[in-house]
Amino acid sequence: MTTIRHHIAGQESGSADRTAPVFNPATGERAAEVVLASTAEVDAAVAAAAAALPTWRATGLIRRADVFFRLRQLLVENQDELAAIITREHGKVLSDAKGEISRGIENVEFAAGLVHLLKGEYSEQVSRGVDVHSVKQPVGVVGAITPFNFPAMVPLWMAASAIACGNTVVLKPSEKDPSASLFLAKLFEQAGLPAGVLNVVHGDKVAVDAILDHPDVRAVSFVGSTPVARSIYQRASANGKRVQALGGAKNHMVVMPDADIDGAADAAISAAYGSAGERCMAVSVLVAVGDATADTLVAKVAERMAALRIGDGTDPASEMGPLITREHRDKVASYVTGAAAEGATVVVDGTQKSFEGDGFFIGTSLLDHVRPGMKAYDEEIFGPVLSVVRVETYDEAVALINANPFANGVALFTRDGGTARRFEVDIEVGMVGVNVPIPVPVGAYSFGGWRNSLFGDAHIYGPESINFYTRSKVITSRWPEPSESQIDLGFPSNH
Ligand code: NAD
Repeated sequence: MTTIRHHIAGQESGSADRTAPVFNPATGERAAEVVLASTAEVDAAVAAAAAALPTWRATGLIRRADVFFRLRQLLVENQDELAAIITREHGKVLSDAKGEISRGIENVEFAAGLVHLLKGEYSEQVSRGVDVHSVKQPVGVVGAITPFNFPAMVPLWMAASAIACGNTVVLKPSEKDPSASLFLAKLFEQAGLPAGVLNVVHGDKVAVDAILDHPDVRAVSFVGSTPVARSIYQRASANGKRVQALGGAKNHMVVMPDADIDGAADAAISAAYGSAGERCMAVSVLVAVGDATADTLVAKVAERMAALRIGDGTDPASEMGPLITREHRDKVASYVTGAAAEGATVVVDGTQKSFEGDGFFIGTSLLDHVRPGMKAYDEEIFGPVLSVVRVETYDEAVALINANPFANGVALFTRDGGTARRFEVDIEVGMVGVNVPIPVPVGAYSFGGWRNSLFGDAHIYGPESINFYTRSKVITSRWPEPSESQIDLGFPSNH
């Protein structure tokens, strides 16, 4: 069986004292084992990153940018191989894996503009003969901890900007699908990144805690579930680190009575069941305004669900693959089987669908008459389960969403520009789509939710990442003639 090891200072390493299984979710077979880092192995990765830091941060910006231009080309050339790795360990269909890679490439393209992004500011003559300028300097070694559901894109969210800014990185990917990160680290090095700038350590809580507690790690980027995000934020900030910790989600899609209902039904299907609902921007709640809207929408969504093809992600005919593990599949099923007892109507029960083999498959489910207080509404399911909440008015829809503890993404479907504009102002959620079900911002903007979907101040990738991964320094300078020198104990004033 293949053993997946760390990538530290450009070398494969890692003892197999502790390992975790890596499954092929489409077959249920144990396809490989991944080593789980000890604290000493994390220390070695941080030491490699710290050793690579002085040279990398001193590397000219144009040469740094060259790495990203070459990396972009390598990602395009190798996307089939990378997509196959993603599908093998995650289960998502190949077209979806390629979609994830193309969104990750946006982050690399953004990073390639680093010469522009790292520009400081300059003010001449703030006082007589005194000039001021600011610079953005790297923070140092960055810890990057990523979830299973985007094994290539989320590592690129972090690594591209952090490295562009002159930092070095210790990346701890999900132990459930660890190979994509290794593939990326090798592509970075093929593109000219010196060994030690991007290190990959595999592991569980032991490795994560070692990163959070290491004095040489200056900033931590985390993406994962809310309980872990909260604890990462607390521990890393207690240790004096800069930290951004993105958490889970419960994304609502509001459908107004005037919306194009067929278009809304298509969008709901794509956003709820794409990647088997294992997306932090998946739509998991349809908020139908008015019973007539709800009745039509539920009928149209159910009709479309019947045509979805679920199967092995490597089969081009499959539109939806399996879930990540057997345990997660069973947990997702429990929300559907428990829904009726809580008062919801189970319109389509995906747990009843049977599949050949031992893959972690489940059918798609649709629940109607769901309300806050039911588990299916209150918790992040992270599977192919769509809940319909019926409300009477626009105001009721907005109040429902603004009261939800999660606030990652939201969408509004309407033909009325006035309603859409009101929604943009009223809604308290980090990323908003108007007739766009999955409003993941393009790479030139930043990604992040509000409330329990993000702990910390900075959103991830895009312009906010440049601030997160740099420290600004302001320099005030004066070049007086020797004759102008004088003693003055007063506080420096510019008037
Ligand atoms: P997870 O929280 O279980 O794991 C995320 C990372 O944290 C992994 O690397 C894992 O090894 C590590 N980890 C797990 N438990 C830990 C613990 N107790 N202490 C320290 N580290 C720990 O998340 P997941 O199941 O891999 O990913 C799915 C979750 O991620 C969902 O909740 C999803 O909404 C969220 N997510 C959020 C975003 C976003 O941008 N907000 C993006 C993708 C995924």
